[in-house]
Order: sequence, then C-alpha cells, then structure tokens
Amino acid sequence: MSNLDVGAATEWIKKSADVLNVEKKRLTELDAAIGDSDHGENMARGFNAVTAKIGAAAPADMAALFKTVGMTLITTVGGASGPLYGTFFLEIGKKTAGKAELDTLAWADALDAGIAGIVMRGKAELNDKTMLDALLPAAKALRDNAAKPLAEAADASAASAEAGMAATIPLVARKGRASYLGERSAGHQDPGATSASLLLRAFADTVK
Ligand code: ADP
Ligand code: MG
Repeated sequence: MSNLDVGAATEWIKKSADVLNVEKKRLTELDAAIGDSDHGENMARGFNAVTAKIGAAAPADMAALFKTVGMTLITTVGGASGPLYGTFFLEIGKKTAGKAELDTLAWADALDAGIAGIVMRGKAELNDKTMLDALLPAAKALRDNAAKPLAEAADASAASAEAGMAATIPLVARKGRASYLGERSAGHQDPGATSASLLLRAFADTVK
C-alpha cells in the first residue's frame, strides 16, 4: 500500500484494538511493577469502545475517524493515559482535516502534531520514562525516511519506537505514577511506551 486513506486508517485502529486485547495482560503486568496495574485494562476498554463506535457508523473521513478515537479514549479511559492518548488522536485528526490520503511526510506531520498534544498536556520530555520515549524516536525515524514510501518509513518508525521502549527499562521515571517510586522505577519497561510501540507496529503492519 502506498498512502493511508480512511479505510486503511480504520483498519489500523481496529488492528490496534485487537493487539491491545491480546497484550492486555502484559501491559497490566508492566503497570503492576511501577504503577497501579490498570494500563492493559485501560487501553483495551478504550479501544473496544472505539471499535464499537466506528463499527456502528463508519466515519466519513480520516479527520472524523481520529476525532472519534480521541473523544472516545478521553471519555472511556481513566488514568493518565486516556487524556494523553485522547489528545494525541484529536490532534492527529485536526492535522488530517481535508486530506483524503496521507503520504510519509503528511503522516510525519500528523504524528508530530499528536505528540505535541501529549507534551502540552503531560509536560514530559524524552527520557522521563513515558510513552514519549517510544513516540519521539518514531517521529524522528519518519522524518529521516520522509522520502521513502509510507510502508518502509512506517516500518523504520515502529522499529525506532520499539528501541525507545526497550530503552525505558533502566530509566528512572520523572512523570506519572511511576515517578512516585523514584529510583525503584528503574529496571522496568514503561507500560505507556509499550502500548505506543504496539500502536505504531500495528500502523506499520496496516500499511505494508
Ligand atoms: P495511570 O498512570 O493513571 O494509571 P495508565 O496506567 O493507563 O494511567 O498509563 C500509564 C502510562 O502513562 C505510563 O506508563 C506513561 O507512559 C504514561 N504517562 C504518565 N504520565 C505521563 C505524562 N505526563 N506524559 C506522557 N506520558 C505519561
Ligand atoms: Mg496505571
């Protein structure tokens, strides 16, 4: 597949829901180590609500789809990750308004806008041991591969997210619930960086 259209974007979101359901237990186990054992349930609940909504009425275009995803995550996911991922998708929706298709550069712009929304809300930086540690390297990889077809760039982007996710293990958390543990948060992979990697791998699998 070359570019992302509303059909492929819908497929990405459904695939993400499938993956988050499969990985629910693992995400919750990661959150049990440095949080409150709810990240898997939070993500699965949110994305199941999303698939119910878009299954009932197919969104007209990509902007409408991402707006629905964002609003649904904000209203159905408790905890820090709901508003953060919700804002991420709302901002992606705003960036894709009026576009029928996204090529690599347009997807890089959309991802950057989504990340900016997370930063605006959560005020985290790289190496704070959050979802941004997966998302920021993923966005950089897209820029580095901007001239490549979306399938190739998305694969590089997912691989960078996964490297960023693994790199959260030794970090001491400086944001979110895990930061209450201080030094004891080191030695565990961040749940949010893990779910973010799953979303970006699902994206790469959708466009390949
Ligand atoms: P909660 O921490 O409220 O229980 P979740 O368990 O669903 O919410 O999500 C936890 C994840 O949220 C963390 O692993 C981290 O990646 C992410 N997170 C927490 N605070 C922030 C923040 N300020 N900015 C970015 N991501 C954050
Ligand atoms: Mg939690």
